[in-house]
Amino acid sequence: MTAKSDACYDAARGELTRVGLRVTLPRLRILSLFDEEVEGMLSAEDVHRMLLLRGDRMSLSSVYAVLKRLDAAQLISSHFEEGRKVFEPAGRTPGGHIVCSCCGRDIALRDERVDAMLKRIARTHGFELTEYVVALHGVCLECAEKTATRAFAKPAAKGRTTIAA
Ligand SMILES: [Zn+2]
Repeated sequence: MTAKSDACYDAARGELTRVGLRVTLPRLRILSLFDEEVEGMLSAEDVHRMLLLRGDRMSLSSVYAVLKRLDAAQLISSHFEEGRKVFEPAGRTPGGHIVCSCCGRDIALRDERVDAMLKRIARTHGFELTEYVVALHGVCLECAEKTATRAFAKPAAKGRTTIAA
């Protein structure tokens, strides 16, 4: 194993811990694959093949199970392309994101003012901005409310409904 993939395992380990998933070797392998090598979209079969090429033996059904978990935790994202499910690294969708450090919820942020500002900053460094990824980390309302509820040990109000975002 190279030093590079060791470092990537660290990143993957941190990501799993951040979203509260148990750190397992299959999860580390697949997540680090997305961190390291993925440019476009990958199907489960592609991931399976790439793992085999790296010498990581895993059954296709395990690959499916891990992808499903990582997708649910928003560590990778998925969509349907020509009738099959494909996956890509979650953080690499161009543009801005607001990420809850508590539950990992990731909301796309498109703001022309941000675009303009980053273009300007890039230009002052002699760059023409082609794409960017910006992540703002914070705590979403739902998580903030949960924390506040815990902190003040308020009894849950009866008949109150939670509005799903
Ligand atoms: Zn949250």
